[in-house]
Amino acid sequence: MFDDDLQQLEERHLLRQLRLIESPTAAAVMIDGRSVILMASNDYLGLATHPRLKQAAIAATERFGVGAGASRLVSGTLPPHRALEQALAAFKGTEAALLFGSGYLANIGLIPSLIGSGGTILADRLCHASLIDGGRLSGADFHRYRHRDLDHLAALLSKHATGRKTLIVTDGVFSMDGDLAPLPALLGLADRYDAMVLVDDAHGTGVMGAEGRGTLEHFGLESRLPFHMGTLSKALGGSGAYVAGPDTLIRYLVNRARSFIYTTAPPPATAAAAQEALAVLRAEPERRARLWRNRAQWHAGLRALGFRTTDTQSPIIPVLIGDPQQALTMAERLLQQGVYAPAIRPPTVPPETSRIRTTVTAEHTVEQLDHALAAFKTVGAELGLL
Ligand SMILES: *Cc1c(COP(=O)(O)O)cnc(C)c1O
Repeated sequence: MFDDDLQQLEERHLLRQLRLIESPTAAAVMIDGRSVILMASNDYLGLATHPRLKQAAIAATERFGVGAGASRLVSGTLPPHRALEQALAAFKGTEAALLFGSGYLANIGLIPSLIGSGGTILADRLCHASLIDGGRLSGADFHRYRHRDLDHLAALLSKHATGRKTLIVTDGVFSMDGDLAPLPALLGLADRYDAMVLVDDAHGTGVMGAEGRGTLEHFGLESRLPFHMGTLSKALGGSGAYVAGPDTLIRYLVNRARSFIYTTAPPPATAAAAQEALAVLRAEPERRARLWRNRAQWHAGLRALGFRTTDTQSPIIPVLIGDPQQALTMAERLLQQGVYAPAIRPPTVPPETSRIRTTVTAEHTVEQLDHALAAFKTVGAELGLL
């Protein structure tokens, strides 16, 4: 039975396999014993291997051990968790914040806490899977609006939102397209219908905004939303996620969010590393400057070669291919040319939009990006994409 399914996936060029990265994640990594340029990591600022974060994790491990030993509500709340939550609240300018084990867990815990059966959730068609799963778990009616299409959202609001508790969910930076939610107009629309808004800022946190506070900072809208969600697993280099907001919401989530309650607290080391990441974000703004400089070079380079991409405004720059088999071939040929950027296929992206999802980080050198562009040029020409 499993075999049949796997065979079918393979025939449709949709089978996925794990690829071993034999070195720390950095601008270049070891794959099959060769050094290749990595154009796929979400470690946008290079913090996953930053000495200060490693040291903070080691120090917390020495003091508190490798595991928290219990869930947060039993005996798993340790000083690194408390300190991180205070630092996150200060970072986001909210009364309080709550740490979750991952972004996935935050969304499947937060959404059913905000809304239940009888309510309505309206989600951007391209929003992250964890928002969809959270919506399903909530029991609320679930509708999707066309990607970034506020006319469609308005139509759905007028049809489904009147007289019902309503939640709009969207990525801040879309994880596979790199474009931004149209937040200024979206928040205005939400106000008109008295709808709550959840902006999942997994890819915005640490990246967007002058100080790296995320997509809401980028748009100057931070004070417009009572609560903010983002992750510690991408630009902040580690793992975990947060919801920051009013004290009452945070205390409510402690009592209601099942993915917070019924799971062992994150290791002290990851909490300590995340707190250090917030300090490094402030202390080393040059990392964000390098990220955006590299992003400009990479985006302009791909465009100049003639690749098709999205309306990306972020370090996520997809090269759109369409056919999953061709996307796989492109990824394989790129790897032979010394560049690792995997094919992203359905169901992660809609049918006919298979792509090479590239990301650029602060750690890439000008030479590495030039080399990677040369590989894209060679392979793109071979496959008739240019
Ligand atoms: C990566 C991602 C998540 C999941 O976060 P994890 O910490 O990796 O579980 C959630 N939402 C979006 C938009 C993401 O890109």
